[in-house]
Amino acid sequence: MPESARPGTVFLVGAGPGDPRLITVRGLECLRQAEVVVYDRLASPELLSHAPDGAEQIFVGKGPREHTMTQDEINALLVERGLAGKTVVRLKGGDPYVFGRGGEEALALGAAGVPFEVVPGITSAIAGPSFAGIPVTHRQVASSFAIVTGHEDPTKPESAIRWAGLANGPDTLVFLMGVENLQRIVESLQRHGRPASQPAAAIRWATTPEQQVVIGTLDDIAERVRAADLRPPAVLVVGDVVGLRESLDWRARLPLAGLRVLVTRARQQASALSSRLVELGAVPLEYPTIEIRPVDDPAPFDAAIAEVGSFAWIVFTSTNGVEAFWERLLVARRDSRSLAACKVCAIGPSTAAALAARGITADWMPAEFVTGSILDGFSAYDLRGARVLLARADIAPPLLADGLREQGALVTEVTAYRTVPSPESRDRLMDALERRAVDVVTLTSSSTARNLVDGIGGRLDVLSGLAVASIGPVTSQTARELGLRIDLEAPVHTIPGLVDALVAWSAGRA
Ligand code: SAH
Repeated sequence: MPESARPGTVFLVGAGPGDPRLITVRGLECLRQAEVVVYDRLASPELLSHAPDGAEQIFVGKGPREHTMTQDEINALLVERGLAGKTVVRLKGGDPYVFGRGGEEALALGAAGVPFEVVPGITSAIAGPSFAGIPVTHRQVASSFAIVTGHEDPTKPESAIRWAGLANGPDTLVFLMGVENLQRIVESLQRHGRPASQPAAAIRWATTPEQQVVIGTLDDIAERVRAADLRPPAVLVVGDVVGLRESLDWRARLPLAGLRVLVTRARQQASALSSRLVELGAVPLEYPTIEIRPVDDPAPFDAAIAEVGSFAWIVFTSTNGVEAFWERLLVARRDSRSLAACKVCAIGPSTAAALAARGITADWMPAEFVTGSILDGFSAYDLRGARVLLARADIAPPLLADGLREQGALVTEVTAYRTVPSPESRDRLMDALERRAVDVVTLTSSSTARNLVDGIGGRLDVLSGLAVASIGPVTSQTARELGLRIDLEAPVHTIPGLVDALVAWSAGRA
């Protein structure tokens, strides 16, 4: 039977409220096997990276004013891909059945005979208030809540919302899609008897690093939202539960709450630093001033790999070097066993972890990750006549190789990967710095420092007034030579060390 003779399944998956980690286990499972992903604005773009490489990704828009595709067109698309035998994930913000029009899509699929499954998601109507420290129910404060569309203009005569019942019924009211009608919503509630003094909150981009919260009363929330220039998407909560926020806002108590940190690592590595920062409440702004790319000509690298067993030592200076090495090793149809006779040096615990993941326990890791200490450490071994392979970046300083040669080693240096500046990030970088949307710049290597200065076109003035945090003395030294001022330097020269230093610095500022 040809593949297309049997329809595929369409999964209507709730992506959760914004933070990509708030998707369900089942949702992620579906995404990982998707052949087609149909998504809209509120589903976190980061989730798309879980779809298999080569999966078709179709954006169907749906901002308040831009409907890239009409609902009928979306339904037709799902039916068409389903009938073609595809495994389709329809990824929707929050829960598919809470103002997500998931019901309409499911009906269309059912009518066309396409099997479908609905994977519920965490709705912004509950998670949004929760992330602002507001429980939608609470003993003795609220024993009911309603989720209401704010899309409808309450002043129009044929309103489907029963305002009188709503104003006097549920203890907590949560409005979605209500920013544009906010004034009319609060007036309507008051007109129908909801007290003007009742607390209210508006939460924008809830659960994401950009979350913004405006607090007021039914009487003044519209004005406060206007003053804060709070735009969609936001949820509005009305009810006494808003008063619990002061005690329950765990996010505001995180050690780096609200700190806007520029992360200048290459995109592939930025995520480790960024996700740690997010956990601590910071708002990372990733400006990948450098990106990791494979080398143009892998021949020298491959030649070294072909004789890998003849090296007494292999020195890995970064996780990128480890990754690139194993990539070429696999291309040569070899594996970790080829290193059986070699001693392995890992510069830094992350590099050691990358090796460990490939079954290699590093024989030696220097206590400090600066060239001088590495060379001192190596002097404990007899390197005379020993072949040493150095797998490093294209822009690594020659000092390490030279120093090892002085100790008598026969050093083979290979470029394992290239670091290239990413041009499209420059505009965003300048824009953020000029808008003063950054509190701290992090520098994690000499190359990030160089690329930063390069990225701002030498305009050091845009860095005035913000703090510069460096991972260690080598990076600081390069940065100073480039005219930067270092405000804090991590005593432990690793990403966790840098984050710890930021926490200590931030506590000292408070
Ligand atoms: N199905 C979604 C809601 C879709 S309607 C859910 O269950 O969450 C779109 C509205 O949801 C937006 O106008 C906004 O009111 C709300 N919304 C969705 N994600 C949000 C977020 N991260 N922060 C604040 N509001 C959000």
